[in-house]
Amino acid sequence: MTNYFRSNVDAMASYVPGEQPPRGTQIVKLNSNENPYPPSPAALAVLQNIDGESLRRYPQPLGGEFREAASKVLGVPPDWIIVGNGSDELLSVVIRACAEPGRKVVYPMPTYVLYRTLTEIQAADITEIAYREDYSLPVEELVAINGSVTFIASPNSPSGHVVPKDELRKLASQLSGVLVIDEAYVDFTEDNALALVKEYENVIVIRTLSKGYSLAGLRLGFGVANPKLLHGLFKVKDSYNIDAIACAVGTAAITDQDYKNACVAKIKASRTKLATDLKQLGFHVWDSQTNFLLAQPPQGNAEYLYQKLKERGILIRYFNQPRLEDKLRITVGTDEQNQTLIEALIYLLESGN
Ligand SMILES: *Cc1c(COP(=O)(O)O)cnc(C)c1O
Repeated sequence: MTNYFRSNVDAMASYVPGEQPPRGTQIVKLNSNENPYPPSPAALAVLQNIDGESLRRYPQPLGGEFREAASKVLGVPPDWIIVGNGSDELLSVVIRACAEPGRKVVYPMPTYVLYRTLTEIQAADITEIAYREDYSLPVEELVAINGSVTFIASPNSPSGHVVPKDELRKLASQLSGVLVIDEAYVDFTEDNALALVKEYENVIVIRTLSKGYSLAGLRLGFGVANPKLLHGLFKVKDSYNIDAIACAVGTAAITDQDYKNACVAKIKASRTKLATDLKQLGFHVWDSQTNFLLAQPPQGNAEYLYQKLKERGILIRYFNQPRLEDKLRITVGTDEQNQTLIEALIYLLESGN
């Protein structure tokens, strides 16, 4: 052990992202919930036309052009929007602005692992509350902790369920700290919690272009909240946190709602088919309002299947964590990719045990 680092950094585990194989590797990649379809042609056209002048200068500090476009799509004023280098950056900004040793950060488990990592970096106090068996939200327990920051991913990963808006209202109205509603998968759901930012000053809804808009490589996310809350967050973010390319390309992508909606419709249809096929193989599959499925294999061999699929060039996600060690998280790919997965599973389930 060195003494280069703060003691909490020395002690913490690293966040482990899903594997990202080098470009050109022949792989069926169903492990990071990326969208299997390309980004909007309108966004790619803007990318082709980026000129040197827009790179020579520093970008707009608040992502003005993207903010205006998002404002139109969402029906909220531009000054209710904060733009980030991926939504992960915004989660980090909230933690840095609101949490410190002695202040609590709270979230229901299992959920997005990064909440823990960011809290550990900040050396704030972590309270993890278990979701109930049916994934209903333990509202009273969360309220009782009254964290400086409470994270709720809705839809949640890796369970895929949406937290009902009334439960989120109960939380928002009773917490004195900030409620972060992480809507990374909102494009795949029927409902969302955006209305809550108008009702409660302590709520921020965070979204991303990584999933619904097929732009995980661009790194662009945004948060919507009352300007009073955003005021403190702006102090903490890097001055030029969104680059000129991300701002321009993201603006075209969010403006092209028709294209995004068409891709989402295809993914939802594929999700239904993949769930049916997995159930046919004896998997238990949780209802999902996202672009992935949580699935429990019939023979209790989740880790084995994960490894064997990887050897065959198919990447899915396995979490060696309480409540997840017997399950797999599978990103919904194209019908062709999903079929490749199903065929490999049929082979492995027949031959493996
Ligand atoms: C993918 C994901 C994010 C991160 O999105 P980026 O905008 O790519 O940083 C945030 N929260 C959850 C729950 C996610 O699954």
